Amino acid sequence: MKTLDGIIVEAEFCPSPNFDNRPKNVKIDLFVIHAISLPEGNYNTQLIKDLFLNNLSPGNDKFLQSIENLKVSSHFLVTRSGNLIQFVPIHKRAWHAGKSIYQGRENCNDFSIGIELEGCDIEEFTSAQYKSLSNLISYISADLEINKENIVGHNEIAPGRKTDPGPYFNWELLKSML
Ligand SMILES: [Zn+2]
Repeated sequence: MKTLDGIIVEAEFCPSPNFDNRPKNVKIDLFVIHAISLPEGNYNTQLIKDLFLNNLSPGNDKFLQSIENLKVSSHFLVTRSGNLIQFVPIHKRAWHAGKSIYQGRENCNDFSIGIELEGCDIEEFTSAQYKSLSNLISYISADLEINKENIVGHNEIAPGRKTDPGPYFNWELLKSML
């Protein structure tokens, strides 16, 4: 892999307007793993892109209506087939974690990289996703000198509020691939 201006050259880049600058002098040192599917349990990559690009057209779908005006993003999305999509340059702050705390430090968006996996709480992730995710984390952790142990689920930094990536995410498998 290779990066140009914080963008992975091999990724499909879909620039999201939902980002800003990280605070000055903050070292990026955490990966946050998420899962998303829209509507839940449906694997429609376009709707995830639409959400992160503020292009969602919810029609009559109540759930989509409820999230239509969120201003959110992640740095990356790994689709079910393992394709890598990037929305925000790595050195910028994506809006993925919300109210969150990691080892006493609040606002994890400041110092983390957000990676969404296309998935949900009730189904396994694909082997293509583990391969793509582990490649991505291996590359960025070497490039930015981030400890590869510094990976958490969204549920761990926003307990009681978030459940993703959920019980089907295989942490041991991921760590064995890094
Ligand atoms: Zn999440």
